[in-house]
Amino acid sequence: MVGASLALALAQIGFHITLVEAAPFKAGGSPSFDDRTTALSNGSRRIMEGLGVWPLVQHEATPIRRIHVSDRGRFGFARIDAAELELDSLGLVIANRALGAGLWQRLEASGVRVLAPARVVDYDVSADGCQIRLEGDAAGNEPLHCRLLVAADGAQSAVRKSAGVESFTWDYEQTALTANLTTQVFHNHVAFERFTPTGPIALLPCVEGRVGLVWTLAPQEAADTLALPDADFLARLQQAFGMRLGRFLSVGKRQSYSLALTRAEEQATDRVVILGNAAQGLHPIAGQGFNLGLRDVACLAEVLADECANGATTVDPGAPALLEQYRAWRQEDRRRIVAFTDGLVRVFRQPFAPIRLLRDVALLAFDLSPQAKQAMSQLSLGAAGRIPRLARGARL
Ligand SMILES: Cc1cc2nc3c(=O)[nH]c(=O)nc-3n(C[C@H](O)[C@H](O)[C@H](O)COP(=O)(O)OP(=O)(O)OC[C@H]3O[C@@H](n4cnc5c(N)ncnc54)[C@H](O)[C@@H]3O)c2cc1C
Repeated sequence: MVGASLALALAQIGFHITLVEAAPFKAGGSPSFDDRTTALSNGSRRIMEGLGVWPLVQHEATPIRRIHVSDRGRFGFARIDAAELELDSLGLVIANRALGAGLWQRLEASGVRVLAPARVVDYDVSADGCQIRLEGDAAGNEPLHCRLLVAADGAQSAVRKSAGVESFTWDYEQTALTANLTTQVFHNHVAFERFTPTGPIALLPCVEGRVGLVWTLAPQEAADTLALPDADFLARLQQAFGMRLGRFLSVGKRQSYSLALTRAEEQATDRVVILGNAAQGLHPIAGQGFNLGLRDVACLAEVLADECANGATTVDPGAPALLEQYRAWRQEDRRRIVAFTDGLVRVFRQPFAPIRLLRDVALLAFDLSPQAKQAMSQLSLGAAGRIPRLARGARL
């Protein structure tokens, strides 16, 4: 999703783009375009508008009007209300598959050359560009040549490894189960985050009254739960989540994801930019991974758009000064979102009574503080510093 978004943004400025994707074109096989639902911030929605994708998919999106956070079996809870913050919504929920279909549709109309299925194997860099070796049905016989190579190939990024950029990985030893559910009580545009002793449960409001589940469990428990017949699965979830949405009535296809924090040591190196999950793979607890990746996209596109607008006859998109501008801009937002997400995971998995008590007090304090809620809603634009034009609803 991140790579396709960047291709659309850069095509708007007039660059010649080749998108290399390991999964077959439009087959829906890309890991980015599966049955998950994604909570998009308002800033991300505006970026999608700027890329021309939003009009194609907005009928598939459900606004979040309230967020309800609670600690199961304890007194801590917090609510965030869009109306109290004078917002129409706190964000929108959309199925990855729907967003993916919109991105492909725009790509077809944009003039971006797509090589799929083709896989980047490695590359060599010289003073004026990169020679990229590909394999796969759509790879062709010649290496690709480009002035800027962008690694948006996910947390296990082959490009990042080929660039010799080290990455830090912290295995959370947790697995996320995802599925769509129907419930007895309408979600009424409320997103629930419920912390339980075995891990957080998120239920996101979706189209047609469904809810999207992200249920984090220890790996073995997740494997056992995944294998349960539907009725037993729903009963176990009911027991963990409670009755806020009445009874769970049915569950769709279930999937599981191992959770880890991955952080690349560099976001840019010789003629290469690393972004999206390739730069930082986050725990889904706060729904920030794709939103952060889209801000990577909006910032890189803006740096290059400004250079084009400066009137130079030819712009070298891999020029070190431009990559340094990008790196410097992204540093703080990225640092804060990674720390915020990782901190949440660590605090809410703590079994120690004093920390659990503090956590409940903190939730209640948050619930009573309009300033804290205002600050939280800022996350929808970015955690720190200059907000890219696309995220503010302006043109590139
Ligand atoms: C359960 C779960 C729930 C989530 N919920 C949210 C949410 O609510 N909000 C949010 O903001 N984020 C959420 N995220 C995070 C979000 O899904 C990711 O941040 C997003 O998918 C990142 O996309 P990406 O394009 O950077 O990487 P990926 O999705 O990993 O895509 C990488 C792409 O590169 C391709 N590829 C891989 N290797 C190669 C190669 N060598 N050559 C060519 N192509 C290659 C792959 O086929 C794939 O299409 C969630 C994540 C999980 C696991």
